Amino acid sequence: MKKVEVLIIGAGPAGSVCANLLLKAGVDCLLIDHCTFPRDKICGGGLTSKTWHLLERLIPGVPYEYNPVSHIRLNVDNQARCEFDIDEPIRIVQRKYFDHALLKHYQDHGGEFIQGAPDKIEERDGQIFVTLKDGMQIACHYLVGADGTNSFVRRYLKPDTDRGILAMEQYVEKSGDNSIDVTLSQSYCIGGYFYRFPNKEYDIVGFGDAATTPAKFRKVMNDNGVPEGKARGAFIYLSNDYPLHDHIILIGDAGGFANRSTCEGLYDAMRTAENAAKAITQNIPFRQVNAGIFRKMRKEMWVTKVFFSGFGFAIVKWLCHHPGAVKWIFDTKMRRETWLKKKDDSAR
Ligand SMILES: Cc1cc2nc3c(=O)[nH]c(=O)nc-3n(C[C@H](O)[C@H](O)[C@H](O)COP(=O)(O)OP(=O)(O)OC[C@H]3O[C@@H](n4cnc5c(N)ncnc54)[C@H](O)[C@@H]3O)c2cc1C
Repeated sequence: MKKVEVLIIGAGPAGSVCANLLLKAGVDCLLIDHCTFPRDKICGGGLTSKTWHLLERLIPGVPYEYNPVSHIRLNVDNQARCEFDIDEPIRIVQRKYFDHALLKHYQDHGGEFIQGAPDKIEERDGQIFVTLKDGMQIACHYLVGADGTNSFVRRYLKPDTDRGILAMEQYVEKSGDNSIDVTLSQSYCIGGYFYRFPNKEYDIVGFGDAATTPAKFRKVMNDNGVPEGKARGAFIYLSNDYPLHDHIILIGDAGGFANRSTCEGLYDAMRTAENAAKAITQNIPFRQVNAGIFRKMRKEMWVTKVFFSGFGFAIVKWLCHHPGAVKWIFDTKMRRETWLKKKDDSAR
């Protein structure tokens, strides 16, 4: 029986950031993942400026490769389009190498990582016991579920959680145009958009909405001139409908913390990782430390409904005639969230 203070399951950005922070705070923790790294992850890999600023503050100097992109083209139903340059670039990373860089940083600083997957979780005498599939047993005071959208830990807390929305992607040859394309259409159902993100080696095109199927994905790709190719899909769980537990904490996609409108998940994966580390080191319930993010998720639900309604589309189409305004909204949102985070940090 191995004993640790904190066991983190899942070494994606949420788990690795949390592990790095706990290690730095001197907390005895163990990180496990069923994959060997570097491993790929279905994702556009877009780090908005609020995300890379946050990462720089949480783990200063962690090295990772990216393609900076500042030019964005927005297209709505082939009826309105606009182009603009944002103040701070979106860094497009390849998740295979980005996630490995975060894990490597933790290991290089003495953090313990093992490859494994949980088979059983039990609670006895105020402790949590996790049995891995290879039979190894781990006892811990805190269990952090950072095991992504199909989380085993979340299913322990709520066995019947839904899977969320299906998002699909395809890698295509680099177009040579270092811009991001986003297409919105009222025919896409709730919460869907087509995107093209150029990373250093290839372009990623993707689409997901509340009713994605492979056939619908192919149609959206055809409409956007994408040639046939190998498509891959992943669910994104977008809910916080599980019971909160003071010693079993869900972060990142496991806890349903991706943005309800855009599915941008890396920012809140890192913020919830930071909140989990704070809850553990300061012995404050996670529900309290993370209250602002739970509120933000509820707010995003109704923002999404308005944004993807006929009214929302009419506003976005009108805004397309004023690219300066779209740029201002984007830059202001990035600055505001970066600034709010800084203010939050200095209040601690
Ligand atoms: C198609 C698509 C495009 C996206 N594009 C963007 C984007 O451009 N920008 C953005 O910010 N977000 C994007 N997202 C969301 C983003 O990918 C996620 O929010 C982010 O990966 C969440 O990080 P995480 O660490 O919580 O989970 P993950 O990155 O999924 O990591 C979970 C880890 O847990 C491990 N694991 C899972 N189950 C087990 C188990 N049973 N035992 C042990 N280990 C386990 C996995 O191997 C993995 O390493 C996209 C998502 C999708 C699906």
